[in-house]
Amino acid sequence: MKQQAYQQALANTAICAGIGVHSGERARLTLKPAAVGTGIMFRRADVAESQSWIEARGDLVHDVALGTKLKNAHGTTLSTVEHLLAAVYGLGIDNMIIEVDGPEVPIMDGSSALYTELILRTGVKQQAAAAQYLRILEPIEVQDGPKSARLLPTNDDAFHLEAEIDFASEAIGRQKKSICLTATSFARELAFARTFGFYRDIKKLHSMGLGQGASLENAIAVEDDKILNPEGLRVEDEFIRHKILDAVGDLALIGHRIIGRYESEQPGHSINNLLVREVLKQKEKWVLETRKAKSAPLSAAHIAACL
Ligand SMILES: [Zn+2]
Repeated sequence: MKQQAYQQALANTAICAGIGVHSGERARLTLKPAAVGTGIMFRRADVAESQSWIEARGDLVHDVALGTKLKNAHGTTLSTVEHLLAAVYGLGIDNMIIEVDGPEVPIMDGSSALYTELILRTGVKQQAAAAQYLRILEPIEVQDGPKSARLLPTNDDAFHLEAEIDFASEAIGRQKKSICLTATSFARELAFARTFGFYRDIKKLHSMGLGQGASLENAIAVEDDKILNPEGLRVEDEFIRHKILDAVGDLALIGHRIIGRYESEQPGHSINNLLVREVLKQKEKWVLETRKAKSAPLSAAHIAACL
């Protein structure tokens, strides 16, 4: 599989707005092109400039109980970064500045679809520097009770993801899926898959003053063996697709494009972050490399034609 040889950024600035799933408050999001070597940087537009920058880095993950929350050295936090990061990584963007005027990235429809569409409509440009790939050389594995996740070496130059979930609820049951991640496979097979939760947990969150923005507009709600959303599922295995989407967003916090194979049983933000921290620690198990072949720029029109 051919990988992009050059770093990529947005071609223009893009703006959208939506409510936070926990605060219920509206926030405005500005996605900006950024220079080579910037990486993915968040900025809280409602906080003093000197304290507002938060790098998208695995060791800044502060809380994974309800989505992924980042916290910088000044104590500035930003919640629910994972679905936006999944779209950014999935579409092959290396450098971006993301401004949010509140404590939480908007949940939109609970998937990465709107962020994916926004990025593709805005366009992606190649930059004049080689992209760095982190190639896994030896297995890195983490385990937490029934949850496990690992990154393994692969013989090709691709990033593969495979995950399996097993829920007692018949609405979900046992689901397994593998995907070879490209901008096209992300946009076509993962981006639309919505987050999900059990109705009993949502009620509990509400009683704690959390999940104020959660509704059937931005999550699949499951009660026992039933799906409460009147429109049902977008595809039968939407649950496992969302889990893989989450893994893309969580692993984006490694800060490099990955060449390897991610596998997980009962994945979640907490086990994914444990894995990311191990990768950042076990530097002898991977190597950074660049692609020599000159590849064509990722074209939004090309991807749109594949959708
Ligand atoms: Zn999610």
